[in-house]
Amino acid sequence: MVNAVYPGTFDPITNGHIDLLKRAAKMFAHVTVAVADNTSKQPLFTINERVAMAASVLADFNNVSVVGFDNLLVEFTRTNNASVILRGLRAVSDFEYEFQLAGMNRSLAPDIETIFLTTAEQYAYLSSSLVKEVARLDGNIAKFVPPQVIAEIDRKLG
Ligand code: ADP
Repeated sequence: MVNAVYPGTFDPITNGHIDLLKRAAKMFAHVTVAVADNTSKQPLFTINERVAMAASVLADFNNVSVVGFDNLLVEFTRTNNASVILRGLRAVSDFEYEFQLAGMNRSLAPDIETIFLTTAEQYAYLSSSLVKEVARLDGNIAKFVPPQVIAEIDRKLG
C-alpha cells in the first residue's frame, strides 16, 4: 500500500480537512499531515501550535501522523517514504493554483503523484481563513472546527 503526504498551512485544521483525512486514511497505508512552516500566508498560529492542534484532533486515527516541515515538499515526501501528495479541491477557484502546484511538483519529482479528493458538499465553503474571520467577528464556529480548536482560537483572539 502507498503512503501519502497531505501538505497545507492548517491555520487552523478544520472539519473540512478532517473529513478529507477520514476518507484518505482508508485509501493509504499511512497519511502524514505536513504542516508548512515557510508559508507566504501570515498564519495566526505558530508552527508548533498548528502541529499540536492537528495532532490532538487526529489522535484517534492510527495511520495518520502530523509533522511540521520547512523544506521542499517533494523532498519531504521522499524522506517520509511517500509517493503521493494529497490535496483537497473545493471549488473551481482552487483548480488553477492546484494545477500549477501539481505541475511544478511533477517537474521536480516525476515519481511522485499528486492526488485530489473533492470536498464533502457541507464543507465546500469552509476555509481556515473564513473560520478566523467569523471568530474575529464573534460568530459561532462550532460547526466548522473541533472543540479543541475553538478553545485555541478563543485563547489567541482573547
Ligand atoms: P494551503 O495553504 O496549502 O492551501 P490549507 O491548510 O488551506 O493549505 O489547505 C490544505 C489542503 O486542504 C488544500 O489542498 C486545500 O484545498 C484543502 N482543503 C482546505 N479546506 C478544505 C475543505 N473544506 N474541504 C476539502 N479540502 C479542503
